[in-house]
Amino acid sequence: MKATIPLLASLALIACRSAQPAAAPTEVSSLSQQGADAVLWQHTSAEAYWLYQQTYDLATWRLESMLANLDEEKQMTDSTEWDRRPLAVIVDIDETVLDNSPYQVSAIRDGRTFDQSTWREWTDKASAKACPGALEFLRFARSSECEVFYITNRDVREKASTLKNLSDLGFPDADEKHLLLMEGTSDKTERRARVRATHNVVMLVGDQLRDFDERFKDRNADYGRGLVDHMMDTLSQCFILLPNPMYGTWRDAVQGKGTDAEKLARMKAWFAINGY
Ligand SMILES: [Mg+2]
Repeated sequence: MKATIPLLASLALIACRSAQPAAAPTEVSSLSQQGADAVLWQHTSAEAYWLYQQTYDLATWRLESMLANLDEEKQMTDSTEWDRRPLAVIVDIDETVLDNSPYQVSAIRDGRTFDQSTWREWTDKASAKACPGALEFLRFARSSECEVFYITNRDVREKASTLKNLSDLGFPDADEKHLLLMEGTSDKTERRARVRATHNVVMLVGDQLRDFDERFKDRNADYGRGLVDHMMDTLSQCFILLPNPMYGTWRDAVQGKGTDAEKLARMKAWFAINGY
């Protein structure tokens, strides 16, 4: 009997606690949790694992075919008209060659959204794994005499850790000459032009359409899908797109920029307006 009284008291206490309303989620944690499915898919699904490899297979076939066409053109053209610039492939880094889904998993776990300080802690570790298929494709490109340029919106302060991460994984051309980090603007147009000034860029690879053309920043008309239709031929010929449901310009088109509270309010408004 003696043990029963404390037990009952404990049960009563638990009942009291469970009767209290749960703490309201903060705007940050609400916004963070909205990304959970996307992060789980990217980080755990066999579908994402295969889709990356399938897409890099496509990149390899396209590059093989493009290089064969260039050889054929050379044979049919007077050598004085040849483009003698070295060949190049431009790739983005995040979610294109390096997998940052562990960072996104920790953000969901901790109920936070992206911020520069936790991002820097992650990139300082230089421990991201290669996206499936990326290493094989870029080694193939390099063995086919294509230099590899990495154009990324990582900050210049992340240069050393990024080069270490790429180099430790065995990525080709992981050096300062081939790494173009963000210098004040996320617009990659000028950096692409710098590579094109000295190289014949035969292919670009990224997880955002802006990795191909900055015009895709504008999603006002039909979320940018009209521009995809308009640029279909060029995209098909020169650009390889990888999947990234975790973040990107597509999401900014709905959430916009600003505080987490503002983004959350815009998300709610979007669903209210588009509630079919
Ligand atoms: Mg990216």
